[in-house]
Amino acid sequence: MKVIHKSYKFKIAPDNEQKELIARHFGACRFVFNRYLISRKETYLKEKKSLNYYDNANDLTVLKKDEQFVWLKEINSQSLQSSLRNLDTSYNKFFRKQTKFPRFKSKFDRQSFTVPQSVCIEDGKLQIPKFKKGIEINLHREIDGKLLFATLSKSTAGKYYVSITCEVEHIPFEKTNSKIGIDTGIKDLAVLSDGKVYENIKTLKTNLKKLKYEQRQLSKKTKGSNSRLKQKSKLATVHEKVTNIRKDYLHKVSTEIIKNHDVICIEDLAVKNMMKNHKLAQAFSDVSLGAFYTMLEYKANWNNKTVVKIDRFFPSSKTCSNCNYIIQDLTLKDREWTCQSCNTVHNRDFNASINIEKQGLKILSGLGTNSDIKQKRSKALPLGESLTSEATPISFAVGG
Ligand SMILES: [Zn+2]
Repeated sequence: MKVIHKSYKFKIAPDNEQKELIARHFGACRFVFNRYLISRKETYLKEKKSLNYYDNANDLTVLKKDEQFVWLKEINSQSLQSSLRNLDTSYNKFFRKQTKFPRFKSKFDRQSFTVPQSVCIEDGKLQIPKFKKGIEINLHREIDGKLLFATLSKSTAGKYYVSITCEVEHIPFEKTNSKIGIDTGIKDLAVLSDGKVYENIKTLKTNLKKLKYEQRQLSKKTKGSNSRLKQKSKLATVHEKVTNIRKDYLHKVSTEIIKNHDVICIEDLAVKNMMKNHKLAQAFSDVSLGAFYTMLEYKANWNNKTVVKIDRFFPSSKTCSNCNYIIQDLTLKDREWTCQSCNTVHNRDFNASINIEKQGLKILSGLGTNSDIKQKRSKALPLGESLTSEATPISFAVGG
């Protein structure tokens, strides 16, 4: 038995009064985030001093006593603190060179606030502090375990959601002794080195076409016009639908792969992206590919399985998996190629997945072909963790 954090996302239907209070929570959390982002920047410029979470939290307590900011008292104070923690995390990630400098939060982005404590479901309704009545929730699946915290959000399409994170006792999948390499791409979601192919699903393709169409319609509308606004919200709705269909499918596939295999070798996404172009569908597939890899990693972690990432540039498509000959003139269009050295006919993605598996297993056994520090360090990691230095064990994420 293993204790894991699992998140469940549900649609909620707040009444008008609740919508108003939710909006005030969004606004206040955004205000706190932006105010202390400025304060951190200015303090650093003026005094060369870095403020941390506690400095900000203490200042916030004082600020709330100021009559000008008395409205902050209507907001769950823990949600405000959680906004400060987010700021702190963004700063730390920036200093660890994992992300860009924190950006100001805008009211035009997806809105959210976190309720770190005292969340429960009672009489089929979501109960959170500061809200007198429970919020209508569409519990389309059962929640197991102890409720830890919740994040309420409003999508750009104007829909309200809650993501509830729980502590769950999880029975890890059985060991299978199977090792696999995965090549991911545009045509298929994933090609496995044992020959299994996960295609991109049809409903997704139809909706992606729709997405492109709505996108084109938007570009025809005059800027600032009402019809443009309408079209924007239409586009957001289709986008949300595509995202949801895709996410469900990614969950299904990633769970199946983790169930069937003990060692899963994948390519580092940053490297993969370097080789791609940037059309709409493409950008979309990049984003969901990131989500797919994240799912594989945390599900591996839940189930004591291993994900190995090939960090360094490695010509997985261009190397013959039979004799290691490297073909020079392979373009993205070539789905099949014949090795000039051993005459093996290769399916591009399948060949790549075999190479990824081979390379991953080399890294795993400590025989990596280069002296990359990341890969050296990875040897010390126990099973079930991702084998790159950037990857921190991911203990929770949406769905199962
Ligand atoms: Zn060959």
